[in-house]
Amino acid sequence: MPSYKGHCHCGEVSFEFTTEQPIDGGTRCTCSICVRKGAMMSNEFIDEANLKVNQPKENLGMYQFGDKKAKHYFCKTCGIYPFHATARFPDKYRVNLGCIDEVDPLELPVTVFDGKNLL
Ligand SMILES: [Zn+2]
Repeated sequence: MPSYKGHCHCGEVSFEFTTEQPIDGGTRCTCSICVRKGAMMSNEFIDEANLKVNQPKENLGMYQFGDKKAKHYFCKTCGIYPFHATARFPDKYRVNLGCIDEVDPLELPVTVFDGKNLL
């Protein structure tokens, strides 16, 4: 399985994960939080078991709203969003492709998920 490393802007949060398929595209979402973050997310939902966070959880803030299914993580130092546990599959994660060393999200084809209406 392909493996990737990522980190927030300041480096206080770093993580590693494996995917089923190589990252060859990204997703943007129209929901109220994603439209504000503006991040390109992984298309793939990553199993919790395949996402390793390298630092203690104290460096991670977590934000929830609405039905509080999704967990939106952020670095407490630089504020960057590294990954979140999804609303539809709470034990699976999407990651911020902008945090991944080998990936240039602006070079990838974009899929838009209509979270505004479908979540
Ligand atoms: Zn940071």
